[in-house]
Amino acid sequence: MNNPLGILAGILVCSATLPVFLSTVSYNNIEINEPQKQEQSVDKEYINYESVDKTSPKINIYNHKTGKTQKMNMEEYLYGVLSGEMPSDFDIEALKAQAVAARTYVMYNQENGSSKHKGSAVCTDYTHCQEYKSEEELKKLKGEDWIKNSYPKIKQAINETKGHIITYDGNPILPLYFSTSSGKTENSEEVFSSEYPYLRSVDSPYDKYAPKYASTLKITNKDFVSKLKSTYSDINIDENNISSQIKIVSRSDGGAVNKIKLGNKELTGRDIRNILNLNSANFEIKFDDNTLDFIVKGYGHGVGMSQWGAEGMAQEGYKYYEILSHYYKDTKIKDIY
Ligand SMILES: [Zn+2]
Repeated sequence: MNNPLGILAGILVCSATLPVFLSTVSYNNIEINEPQKQEQSVDKEYINYESVDKTSPKINIYNHKTGKTQKMNMEEYLYGVLSGEMPSDFDIEALKAQAVAARTYVMYNQENGSSKHKGSAVCTDYTHCQEYKSEEELKKLKGEDWIKNSYPKIKQAINETKGHIITYDGNPILPLYFSTSSGKTENSEEVFSSEYPYLRSVDSPYDKYAPKYASTLKITNKDFVSKLKSTYSDINIDENNISSQIKIVSRSDGGAVNKIKLGNKELTGRDIRNILNLNSANFEIKFDDNTLDFIVKGYGHGVGMSQWGAEGMAQEGYKYYEILSHYYKDTKIKDIY
């Protein structure tokens, strides 16, 4: 299996940038249907645990700013993670789903020894592990009002899921997540090289109110060709009659562009995403006389839980364990303390 942390480095960059853009979005402008309460589902179907009530463990956290390892109570550490990974105005059930994912990530690292920080399961660097901010840092960053009015909701999401992790075959999963799906999530091996039985493509119909569900990039033929040429010096493509030289060859189960032919070269959808800084690799191309429109769906890599999909499900009345069970196939929640 390929190094999951290598995968995570890229993924967590995407996920950690999320709160920045989300905080600029006025949530009130998003039209959301009246939540429809689902029939109360049988918890046992999703939650397979004997509820235990042990003291939460102390874990080692490598602080990348001070260069030191600090011992912290797991749940207190998670307060500082959830604050950075999801906006506090999301539904409590979405926040709880994210809380369980964040806790699972620590346990996954601990059990798989895949950590690169001597003796610590995780570090505080979002480009490598998960975003973490201490209460002091949060106060400076978000202000006293946020600490007073929003931080309690973050803590509630952690406290009410104390000890819960997502498991597959009894072991903690690699809980990948991203901002917004295109309507479907992706199979892990079609985006990264590793196949995980619980990271499968599933429908995600509740993302359509997300601010980045759809986006379009317009670029002139000339600029597009010059961008391609500056990255691939051996590419042979001409700005005239460009539509006849570009062909999407294949797509993933989730709908992302897998292979695309451009002139004499075959690239991946992710290559194009990187070159043009597109929100995702799920795009269509519309050709006009001198311009190309990239019509993009979703935001992020598309593997695992969609955060806006989780928010949409929560708005529809789903509980956090139903959200997790939907996005992480055949998994069960386990209470470990
Ligand atoms: Zn790290």
